[in-house]
Amino acid sequence: MPLDTTPQTDPFALAQALSGAHLIDGQFAAAASGKSFDVINPATGAVIGQAAEGDTADVERAVSAARRAQTDWARMPARQRGKLVAACGARLNEHVEELGRLVALETGKALRTESRVEASVLADMFVFFGGLGSELKGESVPFNPDMMTVTVREPVGVVGVIIPWNVPLLLMAMKIAPALVAGNTVVVKSAEEAPLTVLRVCQIMNEILPAGVFNMLSGFGPECGAPLVHHASVGKVSFTGSVETGRIVARAAADRLIPATLELGGKSPMIIMDDADLDRAVDGAVAGMRFTRQGQSCTASSRIYVHDSIHDVFVERLRARVDAMVMGDPLDEATDIGTIISSQQREKVEGFIEAGRASGATAIPCSALPSDPALAKGLFLRPVIFTDIAADAPPAREEVFGPVACVFRFSDYDAVIEAANDSEFGLAASIWTRDLKTAMDATRRLEAGFVQVNQNLVVQPNLSYGGVKASGLGKEASLESMLEHFTHKKTIIFNMT
Ligand code: NAD
Repeated sequence: MPLDTTPQTDPFALAQALSGAHLIDGQFAAAASGKSFDVINPATGAVIGQAAEGDTADVERAVSAARRAQTDWARMPARQRGKLVAACGARLNEHVEELGRLVALETGKALRTESRVEASVLADMFVFFGGLGSELKGESVPFNPDMMTVTVREPVGVVGVIIPWNVPLLLMAMKIAPALVAGNTVVVKSAEEAPLTVLRVCQIMNEILPAGVFNMLSGFGPECGAPLVHHASVGKVSFTGSVETGRIVARAAADRLIPATLELGGKSPMIIMDDADLDRAVDGAVAGMRFTRQGQSCTASSRIYVHDSIHDVFVERLRARVDAMVMGDPLDEATDIGTIISSQQREKVEGFIEAGRASGATAIPCSALPSDPALAKGLFLRPVIFTDIAADAPPAREEVFGPVACVFRFSDYDAVIEAANDSEFGLAASIWTRDLKTAMDATRRLEAGFVQVNQNLVVQPNLSYGGVKASGLGKEASLESMLEHFTHKKTIIFNMT
């Protein structure tokens, strides 16, 4: 394991060099069991490195280190903690190209359209939260003239962070940066499919933050994630992943009576009215559906409701746009669309496409598979647009987490709002219209954590992010997330008589 943290240009060499370690108490450490597992390049199927296979013993070591470091970290003035976190952001910013290439290599997300942007937002999150140390304010409460009553914000202690593979850098930053500034120490468990870039980020942060403040484990969910949630010294869990795992995590947190923030799945609706700017709406559908990420986005606008009068022309333009996208080597600057993350995930998505076809819907495959023989074993999949699809067909109802968009025809506004809300999820939604009254009405009636008018998702550090219904509990990003989710409010009463 090289400790060289100068920016690297070769992601393959970096992946090899990062192989087989956790980061515990400021040191790289092999798994206590000695076990490791392969990390695969989804564009070729080749093994690019190894990750330490964490279990209960590693969780014990990491949480103990975090607990030991917590007292001193919490006693450091908040602005000083913030400065250190902002310094991590500045250092990570020097590594944007390197981290973008590494995350493209291990997740298959195209460098130009996805991975480089993600690495840059990672750095922004640290810089943003680093500036919020002085916002950890309490209040004074009028109560009794002989008494002074104040509230103060205190850290929750050790925070267990569990993240998925689809945007590992952005998601780790949204959790870790506010948790640290608030005075908590952290143990993060990376996703089994994408452990190396997260480890590299930790290696860079480790040069700035005190040992133990920040620890990272790789491993599988039941063996490494579950013991983290169950550990008696973990005071809060911040989880992003599927609804199924979110329920398991929420039950474990409930048993322990600790808070859990849950960012889960989505099936986001996009409503295009007959007066919408059509070109803009097509752009919005391409961006919102996240075709560049093979649709592997929790906020993917996978249910697109188009007014009957413009439906056919919209579908044709959307097809043409997606068809023109270049699918290929994620590290190639010419590539728009990379790969699916794993063969299991590709099979699952193919199953949804089959089920859609079997339901009688029309499937329109778009974009060509890469012809390069070096990518023959790559996990590529042609995006599919479904039309004439029933609302209860599996790809129309369930989260596919793949490049499958369902386009529905509508003519009645009230009925389309009802259809959009008829989902277990409530993460994102958008309305496309030139009519202000319709736009305002829809923003009130759509059941979602955030609703946008004439645009699709922009994640910003200062914008509150998160879903309602089965899409999750609690918000991330923004000052509010740091105060609400990573501190508790203590009331202090001075009796001055
Ligand atoms: P997943 O639930 O399978 O895994 C997520 C993480 O949980 C991984 O690190 C995994 O190892 C861990 N895990 C699995 N079982 C566990 C257990 N029993 N206890 C503790 N941890 C466990 O999800 P995934 O397939 O990696 O990610 C895709 C899902 O994530 C999609 O549903 C997507 O919508 C969701 N997601 C949501 C958001 C959001 O902000 N709302 C963002 C990205 C992804």
